[in-house]
Order: sequence, then structure tokens, then C-alpha cells
Amino acid sequence: AGPDEADEAVRGTCEDASVCKRFAVSVGYWKDPYIQYFVRQAKERKAPEINRGYYARVHGVSYLIKAFLEKTECNCQVINLGAGMDTLFWRLKDENLLPRKYFEVDFPMIVARKIHNIKSKPPLSKPIMESHSGDSLLIDSHSLDSSRYSILGADLRCSADLEEKLRKHGLDGHLPTLLVAECVLVYMTPQQSANLLRWAASTFPVAMVINYEQVNMGDRFGQIMIENLQRRQCNLAGVELCSSLDSQRERLLASGWEHARAIDMMKVYSLLPQADVKRCHSGSPNSFPRSLPSSVGSPGVTEQAAGAAQGDTNC
Ligand code: SAM
Repeated sequence: AGPDEADEAVRGTCEDASVCKRFAVSVGYWKDPYIQYFVRQAKERKAPEINRGYYARVHGVSYLIKAFLEKTECNCQVINLGAGMDTLFWRLKDENLLPRKYFEVDFPMIVARKIHNIKSKPPLSKPIMESHSGDSLLIDSHSLDSSRYSILGADLRCSADLEEKLRKHGLDGHLPTLLVAECVLVYMTPQQSANLLRWAASTFPVAMVINYEQVNMGDRFGQIMIENLQRRQCNLAGVELCSSLDSQRERLLASGWEHARAIDMMKVYSLLPQADVKRCHSGSPNSFPRSLPSSVGSPGVTEQAAGAAQGDTNC
């Protein structure tokens, strides 16, 4: 595939992620009143392993984000890299946990779609207006800038352009900064993701990065993921290089981060609230069963979360 087709394939993964999340929400794995405004309902049911994998992913990433927000008492900024149709801004606002500013970055085409949804759906636009103060809110087809929330179209493989756009939208280099990459770095070559991580490490003196992506690609679920990426004609170089927890940690340390920790999703799953996990294993998480099935299986995910921190937040 040529570069444009390869990028189109990567953009398609945004739809995959949000359709799966919406399906899992619709059958009760977790609550997200906003995802319905961004994506259609899946035509077919998703396998329980997929739902449980997304449940653990969303829970794990939110847990780390909230830990950072609490540690900094929300005096911080969050940059969601490759945010797709993520709804975290709205969920944090509902919980009174908005950072000083929440930025989202994705390809301009994805951003345009997101902004179109926001403009046409009051449950999405109202919370942005409510959190906005001062001059009028800037919005066009490829970017939105309000006092607490910004979306901008940029290619994460070009950090100079990314930084310029973020600065235009009010990025503050001195605030503690949380960078989130949920299933995003895997779509870049190792060189490109290392450049992005190096840029982040050298730009923000107090920062943490949350990276969630696939490891253990040799097992059954890994193979399904690789087949899916091959069908979409995505570049697999990133998948191959960072295929273990150690290589994930090493990549972060080699890119200028002072500390790095990585855990796999089986571990995350074991740390989730167990009453909730049992409810999800009942086969029908919408209902709270009186008795649980005797065999409680594994989450069936092969993905992992890695984080790196620097400066004195110690989150
Ligand atoms: N983070 C979201 C989530 O977990 O729901 C979306 C994940 S989706 C699998 C990957 C996202 O990363 C897509 O929205 C894609 O467009 C974005 N992305 C990948 N490479 C990118 C790049 N070079 N520049 C901007 N966005 C990129």
C-alpha cells in the first residue's frame, strides 16, 4: 500500500475501536453516555473476549489518568495522542475532574468527523460551552479551541508541526503534562514512535506518558490482531519491535524518560474491582446475577499498558 492508503488503513482503526467500545457499553460493561453520539451500533455482537479486553483497557487507562489528575489536583494538562472518538473529556467533566486543559490530536480527517459530531449533537457541544469562559470559542472544520478543550488535526509523525499547533491552542510547557497514547504508537514505525516519545520527554519537564499497545503477538489473539492489521495493510514494523514488556520499557528509557514500568493486561485484569469483573463474566453484564458461573475465564487480551514518568510527579 502507498503512504496515503496506509494512513487511510490506520484511520480505519479509529472506527474499529469506537464500534467495539460502543458495543461493550451497550451490553453494560461500563458506562459511557457519550460514545453513542460518535459511532454507529455494531451490526453483530462482539465476542465476550473482545468486550472484556476493551473493558480492561478502558478501566486501566482511566485509572492511570485519574491518578495523575488527583496527584496534580487537576493543575495539569492532558494531551490525548491519536484520540479518535474518545469520550474522556466529557466523562471527566461529569466527574468534576477536568485538567486545566485537555488536548486531543488525530489526523485532520478524523478530527473533522469528530468536530462535525460535536457541532450537530447538543449533549456533546453543551459541556464544552459550559466549561468555556472568556473570548468566543474558535471552531472550524479541522480544529476546535475552547478554554478547557482543544482538538487539532496533526500528524503525530511530525513533532515540530504538532508542537506548533499545540502551542497555538494554548499549550503550557511548564504545567505537569500527561500524554496518553491508547493503541496508537503501534501504527508507527519504531523510529517514528521513538521520535514522538523523545519530543515529549524533552518538551515537558514534569510529565508522564501512558502507552497502551499490543505485545505477545505470537499467541492466538496476537495472531488475530496481526491478521486484522495485514488485512488493513498497516505497517507492522512497530508491532514487531516492541513485542515484550522489556522492549516497551527499554524504548521509553532510550527515548529520554527517567522511569518506565510496564504490565500486561492479565495483571491489569486481576487488579480491576473484582465484583465488576465477576459481573462481566456472568455473560450478561447488564444483569447482576445472584450466582456466578463456576468457570471464570481469562480476559483473553494480549495487550499491555506501559507508563513512563519524569520530573517529580511520581505518579
Ligand atoms: N485512542 C483511541 C481509542 O483508544 O479509542 C483511538 C485508537 S485507534 C486504534 C488509533 C488512532 O490513532 C486513530 O484514530 C488514528 O487515526 C490515530 N493515529 C494513528 N497514527 C496517527 C498519526 N500518525 N497522526 C495522527 N493520528 C494518528
